[in-house]
Amino acid sequence: MNNKNNNENVLNNAPSRDFKYTKKLNEQLNKARAKAKSALNLAHILDLKKPLAEKALQEVNLNQGQLYTQLTQADLKRFAQKVIALKKDFTGRKIQGGITPNAIIARSRQIDIKRCQDEIHTVQAIRLEKDGVIHFRTNASKKYGATHHIVSVQFLNFQAALTAEKITNDFLNAYMKGAVKFDCDCGRHRFWYRYIATVGGFAYGTLETAFPKVRNPELTGLACKHVIRVMHTLARNPSALRQAVKMHIARYRKDPNQVAKTFTKKQVQQHTHKATDKAIRKPNERMLREVSLFIKEKAKQMSLSTREKAMAKLGFMLARGEITAKDFHAASKKLLWK
Ligand SMILES: [Zn+2]
Repeated sequence: MNNKNNNENVLNNAPSRDFKYTKKLNEQLNKARAKAKSALNLAHILDLKKPLAEKALQEVNLNQGQLYTQLTQADLKRFAQKVIALKKDFTGRKIQGGITPNAIIARSRQIDIKRCQDEIHTVQAIRLEKDGVIHFRTNASKKYGATHHIVSVQFLNFQAALTAEKITNDFLNAYMKGAVKFDCDCGRHRFWYRYIATVGGFAYGTLETAFPKVRNPELTGLACKHVIRVMHTLARNPSALRQAVKMHIARYRKDPNQVAKTFTKKQVQQHTHKATDKAIRKPNERMLREVSLFIKEKAKQMSLSTREKAMAKLGFMLARGEITAKDFHAASKKLLWK
């Protein structure tokens, strides 16, 4: 087989090597992050008394570089409102402290879904840890020099699974679709989405308190292409990953204080899934159908403020990439003129 140029086949390193590398890289980046004077620790600044808050903001602006717009107190207020709105949305949907793989995909931007569909096709379970954590390795797009990425997933039903009934396939299927916390070592997750995961209480490992003021000030989207691939695969529970999950639970049932296990190069082959499906999520249809139906039934008796709320919801869906601009215009027209 001549597949040298195929980026699916670059997962040649021993899992332990890649895991150590990622761990070290994360430590370095976290250190740099702690020193970064341009980081906007929004909640912290909002806690400060006015003169101190002004000073802190000045410091952020000074260190941000001149290419960026200078932030004002009004920007901070706007950012804070975004965070409050996002928190409300999470609580309203009962997403707190954990989120299911399907909900992660539903809240992801269409652009990340597309990148995942086009570029990321291999998932491997590489390391089993206590507290319900499995580290997965995916291929990288190779555009930025990386050969792989590591997505860490903490299964929140782990403790219950250790004491539950026999581990059947049905049991595993439900478990793999259950609530998780997650993390990815890529820049997209770090700079766009880790803050959102922290707001929702489902960030695994490193938390992020710096508001993504430059890259994602609207706080839209949720998962990078690597996380999307892992979550999509988990939700479909293919046998290669199901076996790893089963092994994970069985290992800690026997001894909850068991040490972590990293698979060898040879072992990991058995826990490798190659995704062949194309469409992870077609843009929006289900949600748009729901909203359209809602508008159709309700628009006539809706008060003006309810219509405004519905418009805001549409705007939110558009920003999250769940509906296209065309869909947005069609739906909002109906809403405004019925
Ligand atoms: Zn990633």
